Amino acid sequence: MKNLSEQNFKGKIVIVRVDFNVPLNGKFQITDDSRIASALPTIKQLLGDNAKVILMSHLGRPKENEERYSLKHLVSHLESSIGVKVYFSENCIGETAKDAVDKLNYGEVLLLENLRFHKEEKEGNVDFAKQLSELADVYVNDAFGTAHRAHSSTSVISQFFKENKYFGLLLKNEIDSLEQALTNAEKPFTAIIGGAKISGKIDVIKSLLLKVDNLIIGGGMAYTFSKAMGGKIANSLVENDKVDLAKNIIEKAKELGVNLLLPIDSVNADDFNNNANIITSDIINVPEGFMGLDIGDKSIQLFSETIQKSKTIIWNGPMGVFEMSNFENGTKKIGEAICKSTEEGAFSLIGGGDSVAAIKKFNMSEQVSYISTGGGAMLEYLEGKELPGVKSIQE
Ligand code: AMP
Repeated sequence: MKNLSEQNFKGKIVIVRVDFNVPLNGKFQITDDSRIASALPTIKQLLGDNAKVILMSHLGRPKENEERYSLKHLVSHLESSIGVKVYFSENCIGETAKDAVDKLNYGEVLLLENLRFHKEEKEGNVDFAKQLSELADVYVNDAFGTAHRAHSSTSVISQFFKENKYFGLLLKNEIDSLEQALTNAEKPFTAIIGGAKISGKIDVIKSLLLKVDNLIIGGGMAYTFSKAMGGKIANSLVENDKVDLAKNIIEKAKELGVNLLLPIDSVNADDFNNNANIITSDIINVPEGFMGLDIGDKSIQLFSETIQKSKTIIWNGPMGVFEMSNFENGTKKIGEAICKSTEEGAFSLIGGGDSVAAIKKFNMSEQVSYISTGGGAMLEYLEGKELPGVKSIQE
């Protein structure tokens, strides 16, 4: 893996693909700047070398040049985070961008306008990638969140930098942490998969079954498993077309000797609402008119015991509707068990937008080993897929 920290970029123009896809409120203020904070080590190293630093990113899913998705909203926040003047180019390619790079001094930063204002970015257009590449001498990819996409700025651009392409410090950390879990996992190895649906996570569940000792399933997807076991789940979330698949997963776990842990009990509401009436029941016996929105105490105890004995833990997806205070307990308690296990020496890796949001909500960010910045990319890596953003640097 080509390593940024072993190089010096003095006198070079470096274009860095960052993931600045940050949430903005109605006043265009950044409500969570973790993605910017994660990119700072790379930016600061390049500035320390006195390079010209060009930053490029996407923001949201703009249809065209939609003002609300302009990266100009990030400039002042970036300036205060990095501590140097940040210039802005209203186009990420063409004369506007070239002029801005020419005017930029070494040791300064230029932020390019949203890459997705050009539809070519997501198409992986080679010409668009070439135009971006013409702005710089060196390419650095530090955007793990989009490393599973074969877009112009995330992988296609690499071909124009042959020897001058590097992983940023964040991307390298992400891969190292995932590798630590996948190839050097100290046992017992436990994966905890939750969230709304099985559909997006089938492949990762299947590939994790080949690696882990324990697989814990929680969240909305647990009800499809409950149905697969003949349970009554009333109005709980269910994917009827995945019931057979859930049965297969249960069988496969048995075959492979993986300890598959499903919730025993469920916290149910008569409405998808924090103020609904709440009844706890066995997960195979959710009362008529109710829907399961969290795991119950018995499940928490069962899961926590396994988590506390684990030496490697991967967590993706909440155990319930943690956004509502009455249904956050399962996710919070599982988070606590992971923190405790980490304190006792386990390696814990958390990824996926919602599990990361939960960890932050419960102020546990400092008590886990690693928080991944890329949900989709993390899942694909765990599935054993090659990420285009990673492969194109290694080639
Ligand atoms: P995902 O993006 O698949 O990881 O799903 C995350 C979402 O799943 C969160 O917004 C949770 O509120 C939701 N979720 C978790 N458990 C349940 C449940 N039992 N019923 C409905 N939604 C759930």
